[in-house]
Amino acid sequence: MKIGIIGTGYVGLPTGVGLAELGNTVICVDKIKEKVDMLKNGELPIYEDGMTELFQKNIANGRLSFTTSMKKAVEGADVVLIAVGTPPHPVTKEADMKYIHAAATELAEYLTDYTVIATKSTVPVGTGDDIEQLISIRNKTARFDVISLPEFLREGYAIHDFFNPDRIVVGSNSEKASQVIKELYKPFEGKTEMLFMKRRSAETVKYASNAFLAMKIHYINEMANFCEKTGADIRDVAKGMGLDSRIGAKFLNPGPGYGGSCFPKDTMAMAYMGRKNDVYLSLIETTIQKNAERKKEIANRVLKKVEEVENPKIAVLGLAFKDGTDDCRESPAMEIVSAMLEQDAHIMAYDPKAMKNAALLLGDKISYADDMYQAVKDADILVILTEWKEFKTLDLETVGDLMKGKRIIDCRNLLDKEKAISLGFDYQGIGQ
Ligand code: NAD
Repeated sequence: MKIGIIGTGYVGLPTGVGLAELGNTVICVDKIKEKVDMLKNGELPIYEDGMTELFQKNIANGRLSFTTSMKKAVEGADVVLIAVGTPPHPVTKEADMKYIHAAATELAEYLTDYTVIATKSTVPVGTGDDIEQLISIRNKTARFDVISLPEFLREGYAIHDFFNPDRIVVGSNSEKASQVIKELYKPFEGKTEMLFMKRRSAETVKYASNAFLAMKIHYINEMANFCEKTGADIRDVAKGMGLDSRIGAKFLNPGPGYGGSCFPKDTMAMAYMGRKNDVYLSLIETTIQKNAERKKEIANRVLKKVEEVENPKIAVLGLAFKDGTDDCRESPAMEIVSAMLEQDAHIMAYDPKAMKNAALLLGDKISYADDMYQAVKDADILVILTEWKEFKTLDLETVGDLMKGKRIIDCRNLLDKEKAISLGFDYQGIGQ
């Protein structure tokens, strides 16, 4: 099939690479010329595990290409995937639809034969109707259907998740469009469940899923607070809970709060949609509020530990919002670092992948280390904020020799608590 993809971000790019690998001809369009130039030169603007090889292979065999021309991507395509951003509106915090509306309007005039327009972006309920209307106004003779094809991939695992989806959700009000999508996803037949439902239901599945996962994180963080007060250990509690198949072990790791480009904005958008439809989504509203407080609370924990130290030097390990990605958007680390900077802390940070993106957000307000040992040198306290596996390998004896003060706040429970204490560290994990 010929596929056009609008937007070459964290969703559009791995999806394009994956669909090309499955044998489709994929043309990705983005309005940022520098990004497209990079892609055309065989360079990836984002880091995703396992993407480079497939990306280069499919460019070389001619199945994957990039352009700034909407016409080239859309004309003659069987399926056009919309994968542009839906950031929070600066005032209302609902999903800002300006990129979706612009993409729908721009693509309309290039629709020639029957085309399925599939929304991969996370969009509010009813967006399919809006896209349909925008296209019809712009191109009265266009033959097309709009479907919802929500994306569930995880950043850092996007390629893995493309080829191993838990489920494929298709929101379609048209049998013809459903058949096209069945054909597109034929390679997954028998391997994963494909759910067909009304367009509005599919649009809701994505928000309901993300809000639930965010709530699960908030819940385990509250349980961690409880464990800290009572002498229980959240690591054992989470294990005990997670083995219950009704609960599941994933998303039961306490930490500095959820972040990233999806959970914060999707919970806010869902809460807004609830209010707009006179349904107060109390669990989601609370989750949003408590998650914001969580980051301030973590910054205060760190500052409290060094309140006696003049001009404390803080080593931060981890800037990305989670491991496996270079994405710092809404990263808890960004907020915690900013809160600590307000108290005149000197911060030296290291992240295996996210240094460039963090520098775009934090600039020269902090210093950046070349590796984790350089980050801890002369530090009064070490704070671990992202769950990179590499941090687990820290040699605590060396760390102890390099640091000025032997204090650790391990927000991801990565280090061996007993060992740290035996080496004389003032070690504090989460919920232990
Ligand atoms: P992103 O910001 O990384 O990428 C969006 C891209 O779209 C940008 O490169 C931008 O230049 C381009 N774009 C915007 N308008 C355009 C237009 N009119 N024409 C051409 N290109 C245009 O965003 P993302 O993280 O890939 O997210 C995209 C959508 O997918 C969002 O709705 C998001 O909620 C959803 N989603 C994201 C993830 C994730 O892990 N990032 C997972 C599932 C769903």
